[in-house]
Amino acid sequence: MHLKTKPLTTAFILLFALSILPVNAQNQKSSDRIAVTAKRMIDVRSGKEIPEVVILIEKNKITAVGSNLKIPDSVQIIALGDVTLLPGLIDAHTHLLHQYYSRYGDDNSNRILEMVQLGPAKRALLGARLAREMLEAGFTSVRDLGNSSINADIALRDAINNGDVTGPRMFVSTRALSPVGGQFQSVTAAAQQLLSQEYVQISGAEEARKAVRQAVYDGADCIKVIANSGSRRLSLEEMKAIIEEAKRANLPVAAHATDGDGPSMTAAEAGVSSIEHAYTVSETVLNLMAKKNIFLVPTDAAGVAKYQERIKRAVKAGVRIAIGSDIYYEFPGKTRGQVCAGMYKTYVVSGMTSIEVLRAATLNPADLIGNNSIGAIEAGRFADIIAVKGNPITDISVLEAVVFVMKDGKVYK
Ligand SMILES: [Zn+2]
Repeated sequence: MHLKTKPLTTAFILLFALSILPVNAQNQKSSDRIAVTAKRMIDVRSGKEIPEVVILIEKNKITAVGSNLKIPDSVQIIALGDVTLLPGLIDAHTHLLHQYYSRYGDDNSNRILEMVQLGPAKRALLGARLAREMLEAGFTSVRDLGNSSINADIALRDAINNGDVTGPRMFVSTRALSPVGGQFQSVTAAAQQLLSQEYVQISGAEEARKAVRQAVYDGADCIKVIANSGSRRLSLEEMKAIIEEAKRANLPVAAHATDGDGPSMTAAEAGVSSIEHAYTVSETVLNLMAKKNIFLVPTDAAGVAKYQERIKRAVKAGVRIAIGSDIYYEFPGKTRGQVCAGMYKTYVVSGMTSIEVLRAATLNPADLIGNNSIGAIEAGRFADIIAVKGNPITDISVLEAVVFVMKDGKVYK
């Protein structure tokens, strides 16, 4: 009985569907073409405000931007009203597969617990949540710099790109290259066997080259180097080998450097793309960074006078700044994205102007990452757009309450 009636029923449904399809298609606005409108936009490059802005988008790319642009009939309109549009934020220093808890103690105790308790699978799943939290807070891209077990960052990045997981575009380093012991304090010989889950420990230029080649093979978008962990330091020869290999694969190199001028100077001399932290560097290092176009990625905690003072000196020396959060502790009651968005006001307190901060949150990290499809609302770039209430030029803290997030032409908030 089924055999007789089913083909007929199916045919009827098909015919019916075909008959209504053209009518529907006529009335439906194409979801491939979108116009986003708002009261104003900040052009981060020029620093100018564009009133009554219209952004035309086709698929995932911006095709035109301007005041009161004519919107074609077939385009779907997202009218956001009295808000300010900005490019999606880019956090230049994240650890999305890494979370410490104050209840477990300090960095040293957390580091050991994380290493022994969380393998790549658990790290990637933690990262899936933190990535979503970042995107919801307005971060459409991040440069994620290690502490993500073995290649779990690659897995998360690819899952986001495949649409399996919601998150920002991730540019990832895989494991950081480090002196012997990574960033761990003294642990037993048995525990030392586990350190390679977190760091690739190198001794000598050949091991440095090999580590970069492995990262390239694993799919890294950049290389992270721990120039020093306290007094344990990589040599200039090792750093140079890392940069030479990374350049061959066209990957930027980020160097973690603290404790005065020594490690930062080695990194700058070797020719890294960015120096992370550099809390206490002198003019000598800052001038060399400016001369060699090396970015400073300050990861400043609020209210530390010596950090604020070196931001002033860096700006004066002409060093380009790409702001990174380096947040990896849980802040109960706040998402990771909310905590990271709170970092921008620190830099206004340090003397940067609002537009300098906005550039350090968008254009500059895009340049550092080496991707000219992100970081600005301009024709040809990806439609990564956020909206805030109020105006960040007069009050940078509005970045802490992003009300609209579009990534790759798709609305997430
Ligand atoms: Zn870090």
